[in-house]
Amino acid sequence: MSKQSNVVELECSACLKKYDSSIEQHLCSCGKPLYARYDLKRAAATLTLNNLKSRPLTLWRYAEVLPNDPPVTLGEGMTALVPARRLGASLGAFNLFVKDEGLNPTGSFKARGMTAAVTRAKQLNAKTLAAPTAGNAGGALAAYAAAAGIPAVIVMPADTPSANVMECQAFGAKVIKINGLISDCGKYVADHKQSEGWYDVSTLKEPYRIEGKKTMGYELWEQFGAKLPDVILYPTGGGVGLIGMCKAFDEMQEMGWIGSERPRMVAVQAEGCAPIVKAWEAQRATSEFFQNAATLASGLRVPGPLGDFLILQMLKQTHGTALTVTDDEMLEAGKELASREGIFAAPEGAATVSATRKLAASGWIKPNETVVLFNTGTGYKYSEAWQRALQA
Ligand SMILES: *Cc1c(COP(=O)(O)O)cnc(C)c1O
Ligand SMILES: [Zn+2]
Repeated sequence: MSKQSNVVELECSACLKKYDSSIEQHLCSCGKPLYARYDLKRAAATLTLNNLKSRPLTLWRYAEVLPNDPPVTLGEGMTALVPARRLGASLGAFNLFVKDEGLNPTGSFKARGMTAAVTRAKQLNAKTLAAPTAGNAGGALAAYAAAAGIPAVIVMPADTPSANVMECQAFGAKVIKINGLISDCGKYVADHKQSEGWYDVSTLKEPYRIEGKKTMGYELWEQFGAKLPDVILYPTGGGVGLIGMCKAFDEMQEMGWIGSERPRMVAVQAEGCAPIVKAWEAQRATSEFFQNAATLASGLRVPGPLGDFLILQMLKQTHGTALTVTDDEMLEAGKELASREGIFAAPEGAATVSATRKLAASGWIKPNETVVLFNTGTGYKYSEAWQRALQA
């Protein structure tokens, strides 16, 4: 007899249609992403602060709210929550923290999503894993596929940062370069997956990358001592982490850990690719495809995010906001984060520094609120971008 699965069922994030979680599932028939659902009453009985003390220092410590298959793990999660006092004083946010996701395997928080997705794909006997990527997702998928012993196909724009191309090749993945954007790469995967027998690990097109990324919400709660911050700034491309953290907060409420209050979520985008900010400012429930998307923050170059309606819903429900940062502002902010705090960030992470300065200046962030910036990736993989900033 197989052991009981933690995931009771999958449920559409839009129309609430239910799906069997014991077989391969991707999108709902309505075209929207699926959420994994758990018996949270049962989870709450053993997922306690006290029990967490003796668990492994990876995101798999939150076992009750993750798929309970043998994990394909490289030690991801439980990243440092770094108090940033000097930077905070300079920005006018005096209770500032940086959640440093650059410390994950393969140097970005994409590792969180991929450990969960690949774990589940392996259990479901996937033959080849495929995904489009703007950069870091490809490296993470290639690494976890290697760890699982499953072949991977990574489809990326031809101008993806070279570190991302090299890591995929080193991990033994097949790399396909496309003259276009991640949306074109996504189309390539969609067009070929049936004939090639690929298991599609695209952002939000399988249910478990959200599960891996939601653990950032659990970690914040644990690292702040069973509390959540007032404000979270998140560099938003596909929005998986933002959606995931909000899902985690809902789960925490259902388990009785928190009440109905929520951190105010802030989606930070690049001025050259800001579909969510545009929709937010126009008070729309969905975004429009962002034409001629261009930014050196490759992870933010997502012109048509599939989960746009979820991101916009969550910004509204949490009384959050959305704003843009230019590439030059990102690079300046990255230098400031590095020189004041010793964290060498991806431009995407640096964007949240610049956004904090703007929101503190406008009074949207109050000086003594607890604010968390997500540095979503390491700066070491962006040598092309940093060369431009540091030689200038
Ligand atoms: C992918 C990526 C993002 C965007 O993440 P989403 O969850 O898709 O919004 C931000 N920063 C970095 C470094 C990334 O690799
Ligand atoms: Zn649906």
